[in-house]
Amino acid sequence: MTVKQENQLVSVPETKPVGVKEKEREGVFVNGFICQSCGLHFNLFSWKANRHRSDNTYCPECGTKGAFIHYRKALSNSPVKDHNSHDEIFRQVPLEGSQLMTDSIVIPKQK
Ligand SMILES: [Zn+2]
Repeated sequence: MTVKQENQLVSVPETKPVGVKEKEREGVFVNGFICQSCGLHFNLFSWKANRHRSDNTYCPECGTKGAFIHYRKALSNSPVKDHNSHDEIFRQVPLEGSQLMTDSIVIPKQK
């Protein structure tokens, strides 16, 4: 897999997941961004409080980085996942009642 990092492409081993590991979890946080270039509003969920900021987030609509009004709400401050809590990310995404879209691309699990 190849990912873009600070204007250069770097290779990531296919077997290593990209993302926050459960042991790094600080809680459940939802970041609300409003793009000042195109007006898109979007929410981004994370287990880390400060992983996603205006200066490292790209707008999914216009690709701009940095020009955001940024809000954040802590849904949970627990470093431990609570499968019974409504505030876990898997309870928020997809939102209740959402339909799975046919353009979904599913990568087969590695052995
Ligand atoms: Zn935008």
